[in-house]
Amino acid sequence: MVLEVGRRVDDASIAELTRADSIEKRRAHFAVGTVVLKTMVEELIDMGFEWVLPVMLSRTTDPLWPDPGASIEKRIELEIYGERVRTMQSMIVHKRVLVSLGPEKFFILSPNIRIEKRERAYTGWHLYEFTQLEIEMAYARMQDVFRVYERIMSAAVRRVREEMRDVLQALGRELPELRPPFKVVSRRELVKKYGEDWERRLPHEIREPVWVTDIPREFYDYEDFETGEWRNYDLYLPEGYGEVISGAEREYEYEKMLTKIKRDGLRAEDFEVLLRLAREGRLKPSAGAGLGVERFIAYVVGARHVAEVQPFPRIPGFVGEL
Ligand code: ASP
Ligand code: MG
Repeated sequence: MVLEVGRRVDDASIAELTRADSIEKRRAHFAVGTVVLKTMVEELIDMGFEWVLPVMLSRTTDPLWPDPGASIEKRIELEIYGERVRTMQSMIVHKRVLVSLGPEKFFILSPNIRIEKRERAYTGWHLYEFTQLEIEMAYARMQDVFRVYERIMSAAVRRVREEMRDVLQALGRELPELRPPFKVVSRRELVKKYGEDWERRLPHEIREPVWVTDIPREFYDYEDFETGEWRNYDLYLPEGYGEVISGAEREYEYEKMLTKIKRDGLRAEDFEVLLRLAREGRLKPSAGAGLGVERFIAYVVGARHVAEVQPFPRIPGFVGEL
């Protein structure tokens, strides 16, 4: 089987992971995860971010389309109180509304459901339920977002290295210090260097995390209609791991958003509030991103499969005992 990203895992290790008894063997991962989460949250609060709680059912969610990396086999819709709602694929729409009307700088630990295709079980890098550490900042640019994640990630790694030396040793994990600022490269440069396959190759070629910019995808990311450049970004981790953050500077003009929504074949009525605020000139420019919490912790502990850091693994195609 050819892997898209991440590490190879086999059916036997997946079967083992989805048995409830395997929780016991992975207790060290949860201890490391606690230090990682505590450090990132503390750093964000120190930087003046407000802590906002998530929603999980809504009339609107991230369309996850078009996205070159998407492989969603099912979008979940259900009816409550006579209304159709969806389970949250990401809180991007809610973040854009909140940053415009409410706190201008906040973070959310946001649970997402993405029913990925079964074959993604073997990448070791995909889950059907996971958590993003989302941030959004009014009037920010991409470099501002880079600095925030570089700071919280390097602080978390530093703290784990200092306070959990024995645990890392028991796990056989040699965790290198992260050294910001991380390198920034555009997708176009990567295509030239590695070909269309850059996404799979990059995590094996780099020694430190790298920001990749300019990726054509969902309408809410800022696109310069004149140059064709997208002001968005992903962060890639080394050692074969892969993408751990996605984010962007955002669209805020009504006409432009509507044009892109139509171009993508989406329904304008699904983004009614966003479009109304934009039409009234109340949608603020902002930038933000989301970090895959399980992915980052999996990198820190040196896991083979990202589900190893979930007490109840959510591996595409495999519904576990609990
Ligand atoms: N969290 C991402 C963002 O802020 C959206 C995503 O989940 O891909 O752009
Ligand atoms: Mg996205």
